[in-house]
Amino acid sequence: MEKLTSPGVTRAVLARFGIRARKKYGQNFLTDGNIVRGIVEAAGITKDDCVLEIGPGIGTMTQYLSEAAGTVVCVEIDETLRPVLSQTLEDCGNVEIIWGDVLKTDLKDLSERFNEGKPLKVVANLPYYVTTPILLRLLEDKGRFESITVMVQKEVAERICAGPGNKEYGALSLAVQYYSSPEVVLKVPPACFMPRPAVESAVLHLQAYEEPPVEADEKFMFALIRSSFNQRRKTLANGISHGFHYKGRVLTRKEAEEALAAIGLSPDIRGEKLSLEEFAALSRQLEKPEQ
Ligand code: SAM
Repeated sequence: MEKLTSPGVTRAVLARFGIRARKKYGQNFLTDGNIVRGIVEAAGITKDDCVLEIGPGIGTMTQYLSEAAGTVVCVEIDETLRPVLSQTLEDCGNVEIIWGDVLKTDLKDLSERFNEGKPLKVVANLPYYVTTPILLRLLEDKGRFESITVMVQKEVAERICAGPGNKEYGALSLAVQYYSSPEVVLKVPPACFMPRPAVESAVLHLQAYEEPPVEADEKFMFALIRSSFNQRRKTLANGISHGFHYKGRVLTRKEAEEALAAIGLSPDIRGEKLSLEEFAALSRQLEKPEQ
């Protein structure tokens, strides 16, 4: 089967099967061979790898992944694409398609069935309407994924990579940076897709950490982070004293200010100024209730 990476071939395949890109599933098919090759290269795929592709669509990137990887497991929600994939992937004997919602798929079972329980590499042109839940689900499943190389909205990529003091910095940046080191590897204009999305895109490569880079009670620290960013204009101590709840625990403004002082930070500091290391230090200060 010929490669789908051209607007003409993609249009012809869609017409042949009477298929229209479905907005509700975030379908924007890639049509640019350089971008697809760039993604596969950034993911560093070899024949030793088992790749999980989320949302193969009509199989555009899957054809390239099949050539590069040992095995490719795809999870696709849109069953109307069945006849298309059985034709476009007819020469790809190392590809398995699982039909369903990736957010409800047992990922442990996939790595056991297809990769002896060893970590998978994730590659995807993600459906933008569920980018954050998909990324968090993959990252929180520690040890299951070695790396995640994905197309996302450019502004989401910027939020994920932002550091303290940047206006894009927030709970999503900290969550992703706790589990992995993120990097933007490609910027991608709307013209590389069919139909064209309304936004610019970027390819992110997340290299998963074997161990988190900081030490803290993870759930406590993320409750702290969320409450710190709930009201961005408030000071961190104020945000925490109004918005922090974890296992029945709340924190007073005095407790928050004292903990900030103990780690050498001003009581007036805002959440957006704290690094992941500082959030971890603050968390360690506050984890144990005062006697
Ligand atoms: N990989 C193809 C490409 O690059 O041309 C298609 C990418 S398209 C942006 C996103 C794909 O994800 C679509 O095929 C869509 O049907 C699928 N999808 C959307 N939501 C999904 C979900 N929750 N679980 C699995 N697949 C999903």
